[in-house]
Amino acid sequence: MNLEIIKAIKGLLDIPQKIVIIPHKNPDGDAIGSTLGLWHFLKGKGQDATIIVPNDFPKFLKWMPGSEQIVNFERDSSVAKSLINKASVIFTLDFNHLGRIGQLQPLLENSSATFVMIDHHQEPDDYAKIMYSDVSMSSTCEMVFNVIEGLDELESITPELAISLYTGIMTDTGSFKYSSTTSRTHLVVAKLIERGAKNTEAHNKVYDTNTPSRLHLLGCALKNMVILEEYHTAFITLSQDELDTYEYKKGDTEGFVNYGLTLEGIVFAVIFIENREEGIVKISFRSEGDFSVNEFARAHFNGGGHTNAAGGRSDVSIEETISLFKSLLPQYKDDLNA
Ligand code: 5GP
Ligand code: MN
Repeated sequence: MNLEIIKAIKGLLDIPQKIVIIPHKNPDGDAIGSTLGLWHFLKGKGQDATIIVPNDFPKFLKWMPGSEQIVNFERDSSVAKSLINKASVIFTLDFNHLGRIGQLQPLLENSSATFVMIDHHQEPDDYAKIMYSDVSMSSTCEMVFNVIEGLDELESITPELAISLYTGIMTDTGSFKYSSTTSRTHLVVAKLIERGAKNTEAHNKVYDTNTPSRLHLLGCALKNMVILEEYHTAFITLSQDELDTYEYKKGDTEGFVNYGLTLEGIVFAVIFIENREEGIVKISFRSEGDFSVNEFARAHFNGGGHTNAAGGRSDVSIEETISLFKSLLPQYKDDLNA
């Protein structure tokens, strides 16, 4: 990675700092894994560091070492505010514009701390003094590994740090199958296992801890799937009533969208999830091949992400959202047939 970035980060860490580390709202495995990985590293260097999440994260990530010390802004906003006010350095991980951190946005906009961005999403905003942005990376966790390696600190990787980064790489690559997975990704993962990451444990704790109600919700989602062969597209809807019926808990719908892509010939998969409390429909987009869901989400659903995985939202009803979605497909017919 870029030596200038390493030099700048080294310069910051050569002196004691008050550090806050922040991932995006609704943090996923890469967001929690990368912040924890960096947190273990900074604590090991004797730095004063705290992770603040904009809101809660799923139970299937709460076994990760150090996760119990994460400050949840929604629950402990005064603690979080005070930490941000005192921070001399703020690392923002796994997102690229401050609109992705919900209610934390104004606090960061008013902060005079030095910002460091580590992120792999497309079209980053220019808010960080030190910006390590690389859209070719599998995950932010892989990038945190690169920073540690660039600082010549691989020996300081503990098993706790190693499992944090391993887990985020695992979840963001769909267990090492997405096209963002490179030989370098596998080399990084190999080094993390060498440094004590218990790989099987990470898979079991993330993927084999389903509840019966989550599997029933998945059954409902799959039953609701609509296949539009003409557009090589499959979409799933989940209404708030359905979520309530199956006792939805945070994280329960993680990965559902991918089932559409497991159908032969389908290159575009979408899930629409009603959130009555926020008055929005949360949308996840996935694709195989060249069709850019990042561009699609940006253009039509206030979102973004990567070429093959993006998210967005809609402020109208789920029925209207689906009508709008269907009405957009004809203009993409050629791209979806490619
Ligand atoms: P997911 O569908 O799993 O929530 O997110 C897929 C990818 O898109 C992730 O990399 C995530 O960070 C990004 N993403 C999800 N929702 C949004 C959104 O509302 N806006 C933007 N810009 N990116 C999103
Ligand atoms: Mn990520």
